[in-house]
Amino acid sequence: MSNLTDQKVIDGKAMAARLREAVGEQVAHLQTHHQVTPGLAVVLVGEDPASQVYVRNKARHAGEAGIQSFEHRLDASVSEPALLALIDQLNHDPAVNGILVQLPLPAHMGETRVIQAIVPAKDVDGFHPVNVGQVAIDGQGLTPCTPLGCKLLLEHQLGDLSGRHAVVLGRSNIVGKPMANLLLQANCTVTIAHSRTQDLPAICRQADILVAAVGRPGMVKRDWIKPGAVLIDVGINRIEEDDRTRLTGDIDFPAVQDLASAITPVPGGVGPMTIACLLLNTLQASYQQLGLPFPDGLAERAWQAQATTC
Ligand code: NAP
Repeated sequence: MSNLTDQKVIDGKAMAARLREAVGEQVAHLQTHHQVTPGLAVVLVGEDPASQVYVRNKARHAGEAGIQSFEHRLDASVSEPALLALIDQLNHDPAVNGILVQLPLPAHMGETRVIQAIVPAKDVDGFHPVNVGQVAIDGQGLTPCTPLGCKLLLEHQLGDLSGRHAVVLGRSNIVGKPMANLLLQANCTVTIAHSRTQDLPAICRQADILVAAVGRPGMVKRDWIKPGAVLIDVGINRIEEDDRTRLTGDIDFPAVQDLASAITPVPGGVGPMTIACLLLNTLQASYQQLGLPFPDGLAERAWQAQATTC
């Protein structure tokens, strides 16, 4: 078993395996005590290779956690009304507790309209405005999976985040903005930086916690880092090299590794936690739809547990 504490390179893969296991145990509890099996519907439109891999991984991990997975693969030419009709059907299907529409959608679809068609209670991606608002108000809505995963990694590493200066690089609706909200709720002092920010290195040097979600390989350099900072690299950049595709993050990992007190690698950091948090959200949605209180401290229990699937 790997020891998850005191690691400088944060093992997101191992932590995600433990979280998935804890979700699986709670799914078994729901089945035994409430005769309910959580269900996750994943909708994929088109043939985008990366999306196909993501959808396959989500379905596999859902199945391993005992969550029933319903895959809907639609042709790229499908009309928006046909997709909305499928979402409506899933909204009303009692076997489906969570609905995820894999993004990006083909250009002829209105992403906002499609996301808003998902009933908020089943919006396990946390992108519906009702959940976005709820998360911003009190952190109680279904939270976007990637920022939720980052927050769990940070809390495991640092415990209480109160008073830390967190810099979030990137302001997208799916990563940067919800990440900033979660850190604010955790009582960090939060700075959000983006493409119009002036003197990014100076701003990043103030960060006790730096979350990079930009999509530019190795953009964060050594002289951007405050010694002892915790670095969370959300970026997934595909580099073509010698007929192979290599994944790399937004942080220049080899250059900064010795300066950071902890850092997530790419791959093997935030990515696996994103899928584990999708399962966590599906479980939470199932509890809420049953009118049951969601058990506290599931992630903390996961970190303490013996892992069998790291
Ligand atoms: P996005 O929607 O393209 O947003 C990128 C953000 O970075 C924008 O806010 C943009 O600023 C900012 N930015 C771009 N260039 C910049 C620069 N030179 N200096 C400062 N800021 C800059 O991307 P996203 O969806 O948030 O994703 C970000 C990265 O995370 C991507 O690599 C993506 O693949 C990865 N990702 C990973 C996971 C995971 O599970 N690990 C999940 C989601 C995304 P403006 O707003 O001013 O344009």
